[in-house]
Amino acid sequence: MFENLSDKFERAFKVLKGQGSITEINVAETLKEVRRALLEADVNFKTAKDFTNTVKEKALGQNVLTAVSPGQLLTKITHDELTELMGGEEEQINFQGNPGVVLMSGLQGSGKTTFTGKLGNFLQKKKGKKVLLVACDVYRPAAIDQLHVVGEQIGAEVFSNRELKDPVQIAQQGISHARSNGYNVVIVDTAGRLAVDEQMMEEIERVKKAINPSETLFVVDAMTGQDAVNTAKAFNERIDFDGVVLTKLDGDTRGGAALSIRSVVEKPIKFIGTGEKMEAIDVFYPKRMADRILGMGDVVSLVERAQEQFDEEEAKKLHKKIKKNQFDLNDFFEQIQQIKKMGNMKDLLGMVPGMRKAMKGVEVDDEAFTPIEAMINSMTQKEKENPDIINHSRRQRIAKGSGTSVQEVNKLLKQFKDTKKMMRMMSDKRNMMNMMKQFK
Ligand code: GDP
Repeated sequence: MFENLSDKFERAFKVLKGQGSITEINVAETLKEVRRALLEADVNFKTAKDFTNTVKEKALGQNVLTAVSPGQLLTKITHDELTELMGGEEEQINFQGNPGVVLMSGLQGSGKTTFTGKLGNFLQKKKGKKVLLVACDVYRPAAIDQLHVVGEQIGAEVFSNRELKDPVQIAQQGISHARSNGYNVVIVDTAGRLAVDEQMMEEIERVKKAINPSETLFVVDAMTGQDAVNTAKAFNERIDFDGVVLTKLDGDTRGGAALSIRSVVEKPIKFIGTGEKMEAIDVFYPKRMADRILGMGDVVSLVERAQEQFDEEEAKKLHKKIKKNQFDLNDFFEQIQQIKKMGNMKDLLGMVPGMRKAMKGVEVDDEAFTPIEAMINSMTQKEKENPDIINHSRRQRIAKGSGTSVQEVNKLLKQFKDTKKMMRMMSDKRNMMNMMKQFK
C-alpha cells in the first residue's frame, strides 16, 4: 500500500538530511518534492498545494529542537498534517435504532456487496449485533445471488424479494422483517452502475428518503484515484452520505483517493477494505494511515518523545558551555539523565534510522549508567567542575565511595575527556543526541 508514495517522501526528506537548520530555502526544496509526490499519487492539485503551504508555515514557525534534525522535524510536521488531511480522529458509524439501518451506495464493481458482507461480519463479531442483509438490486439477479453467498459466508440472513421491482418497497419490507424478528442492524445493498447516471441517483435518493437510514455509506475503489473523488462528489451532492468506505487498498493504489476525499468532499473515510475475504475490513485511522504513507512512524515517535523531554533553554545553555569549553561532569551527569528519561536506550537508539542495524548484537541498557552515576555522585563539587584535579588518591576515594574500582574511575574520566573533546569538535551539532546520530 502506498509504497511509491512512501519512497518519494523519503527521498524528499533526504534533501534536508545533514542540514543544520530549517530555512525558507531548504524547506521550499523539500516541499517541492513532497508536492510532486502527492500529485503523482493522484492527489487533487488544490489539496496538494494547500497541504504543502500549511506544512511550510508550520515548519518555519517552529523552533528547531536540538535533539532532532530538521529532516526529522519536517517529517513529523508532514505526518501531523497528513493525519489532519485525512480527518484527524477516526469516526464511528451510527447503527443505533430499532433496527439501525445502514444504506450502502456506490458504483458497480466498487466492492459494495463485498463490503456489505464485511460490515455485517464486523458488526456481528465485534459489536455483538444481530444483522440482516437486504438485497435491493432489482436489475441484476446475479447481484442478489452474490449477496446470498456473502450472507452464507458470515452466517447472516439475507432478505430479498425477486418478485418486486421497486427497491424502496424491498428495503421497507426488509426493515419490517428485521423489526419483527429481533435484528439490531439492517444493511441495505443497493444497485450500482458502471458510471454515475441520473436513474441510479434518483433511485438511491428515493430509497434514502423512504427508509431514513441511521448511516449512509458511499463505497469507492481506491485504485481509481481522482475518479474516486469525483464520484464521491457526485454522490454526496445527491444523497449527502455520512461516510466513505475505501476498498481495494491492498492493491497497487497510489493513495490519492485516501488523501483527497476528505478535503474535497468534507466527509470522513470510516472504513477501508484490504482484500476479498470477509475479514479484510479495517476501521480507518488517519494517524495510522499517515504512519504507513510516510513509512517513518519510528522517526515520528522519536521526535514526539524528544519534544516532550527536551528543555530547549537547557540545551542552549549546554551548547554555550561546550563552546566555552566549560562542559563538566555535572553536565555529563545531566545528559545521562536526559537520555534515561527518554526511555530504554536500546528502544530509543533503535528509532534512529539505520541505527537498529548498527545496534544489532550490542547490549545497551540503562543499567550501564549505574556505576557512572555512582562515581560522579562520589565526587566533590570541585572535582565535578574541574576533573583535572582528580589525582590518584582522589580516584581511590571515589572508587571506594561508589563501590567501583580505580580502573573504572580512570575509564570514566577518560570517557569524559574524549566526550568533551568530541563535543567541542562538533559544537555546532550540540548535545549528546546529535552525537549519537553520527552513527547513522
Ligand atoms: P459491487 O459491484 O460494488 O457490489 O462490487 P463487488 O462487491 O462485487 O466487488 C467487485 C470485485 O472487487 C470483486 O471481485 C471483489 O472480490 C473485489 N473486492 C471487493 N473489495 C475488495 C478489496 O478490498 N480488495 C480487493 N483486492 N478486492 C476487493
